[in-house]
Amino acid sequence: MLPPIASLTGGEWLKGDLHVHSRHSKESSNNSVATIISFSKSVGMDYLCITDHDNHVLGDVAHNTWTDPEFKSDSVLLLYGAEWTTTRGHGNAFSARPYDHQRLYDVRDQRDVVVGAVKKELGIHLSANHPSGKDHFGYSYDMVDSIEVWNSSYWPKNANAIMIWDDMLSSGRKLTGRGGSDAHHGAPETPDKATKNSFQAKSNYIGTPTTWVFAPARTSQAVVDTLTGGRVSVSANPYAPRVEFYADLDQDGKMDMMMGDNTKSTGKPVKFRVQLTGNTVPTASYTVNVVKDGNKFGTFQAIGKIPMVEFTDTPALLGRTYYRVTVEGPPTAYPQVPESMAMSGNMVGLSNPIYFNFDPNF
Ligand SMILES: [Zn+2]
Ligand SMILES: [Zn+2]
Repeated sequence: MLPPIASLTGGEWLKGDLHVHSRHSKESSNNSVATIISFSKSVGMDYLCITDHDNHVLGDVAHNTWTDPEFKSDSVLLLYGAEWTTTRGHGNAFSARPYDHQRLYDVRDQRDVVVGAVKKELGIHLSANHPSGKDHFGYSYDMVDSIEVWNSSYWPKNANAIMIWDDMLSSGRKLTGRGGSDAHHGAPETPDKATKNSFQAKSNYIGTPTTWVFAPARTSQAVVDTLTGGRVSVSANPYAPRVEFYADLDQDGKMDMMMGDNTKSTGKPVKFRVQLTGNTVPTASYTVNVVKDGNKFGTFQAIGKIPMVEFTDTPALLGRTYYRVTVEGPPTAYPQVPESMAMSGNMVGLSNPIYFNFDPNF
């Protein structure tokens, strides 16, 4: 039996960045914790996870990033986490409260069964970072809850990450796709503080991309739980429209589930709805690409003040089916990171899948 689908109205969309480096990462520049938090606040972020490289402090993020006097905010929910930086690649750990990260660091070269057991004991969310790039996540995907399918503003380099995601989804793994800017460099306060990497702050910074979660409450725990559950969507920046993906199971015109949700197929047709919410261009046409079970299902055009497309398909009665969407269209200006638009191009956002017949005990 699958758990019932949660309410489609009992929650709010919260946005944030899940992969940011501060000065506690040794290769970062001009990015103090206070700078990162105040910038996040200024662009309307609801939550944030500063994920410094744990190997730069030999695993002791608890006495570096987390105890930095600047690690506090009255408006941005701060997750506890770090970038697990190992010989076998990188992953991000996310938690609503402090946890013993040192233990995860200490088992980094152990076998996956050992690492997986520690991860479970710590009760954290583990996520595969930049899975096809340099320092790709080289551990079993069976111990992660999400995968970074959109790393940094430069969208085109994520094609192989998307391919890995589809492979994992097609093999029955209900794995949340998320974004992360992986920003390392802030803007220098004065010209003499500039570094050879300072230029990056103009093209890739906090919010490129932005990950949205439909959280049942405005708490860090709700953000982490929603990341695990999959009611998640990724947009090019904090001002870009949000992709929402729904399904009407009984064709009564009322949506019954959204991305991240999993239900049993009835063998009857399902009506799907893709909607863009936020700063859309009313005169523009948005291209909605639907992927079904890793294959192209169809391409639709959406126009209007709240661009929307609907399509109908029948998920298999037996066996798994999933649908997910990506949306392309006019870029949305992000004045604080002015060169990011050119990097992300026409990529507006992507949804997590809607699932049928996925085994919750997989
Ligand atoms: Zn990394
Ligand atoms: Zn990183």
